[in-house]
Amino acid sequence: MFGPPGSGKGTQSVTLAEKYNLLHLSTGDMLRAELAAGTELGRKMSAIMAAGELVPDDVVIAMIAQKIDSTTGKAGFIFDGFPRTVEQADALQVMLKERGMKIDLMLVLEVNDAELTDRMKKRALVSGRADDADEAVIKNRIAVYQAKTEPVIEFGRRAGVSRMVDGVGSIDEIFSRLCSQVETII
Ligand code: ADP
Repeated sequence: MFGPPGSGKGTQSVTLAEKYNLLHLSTGDMLRAELAAGTELGRKMSAIMAAGELVPDDVVIAMIAQKIDSTTGKAGFIFDGFPRTVEQADALQVMLKERGMKIDLMLVLEVNDAELTDRMKKRALVSGRADDADEAVIKNRIAVYQAKTEPVIEFGRRAGVSRMVDGVGSIDEIFSRLCSQVETII
């Protein structure tokens, strides 16, 4: 599941995971869990996350590998907020290939910047996330997305797996757009 911060990746991934028996893997959630648990890793990553910058590739790649290797009974995985750089995408491809798996689909939620900022400011009121509460941090996250993450769409396009999906509308409408895409590959 791909898209800028605030595009609805998390919301939609949870419901898609339930419907298709997938394990939902959100690197953002995993990192926030480290922060909440007060681990050494969490402490090291907190300033990076609060500034809206990306944590080092090797940190998230190791987290994902560990989850893939400890999961049974699922039809597959839905990655949310990962890969976020071309290096992470390359690492994911290698990791999956080594385990006899592949990327089947890359769903790209498209939402304009004004709507993203609006949604994140609203989310801050309920999420308590510091990176949602500060407009400068929101702006930086969108800029980081454009500079480092958007190139991953080209990676998906070359692999023939990317599908652009309109991410503006009701949650149910967007969900059915995403499901139509999933149905084309199962
Ligand atoms: P959002 O997509 O709404 O910005 P996430 O929960 O996906 O939120 O990510 C929150 C923060 O966690 C990011 O701004 C970044 O600092 C860190 N993070 C999450 N996933 C990654 C990743 N794959 N690579 C690097 N940093 C990440």
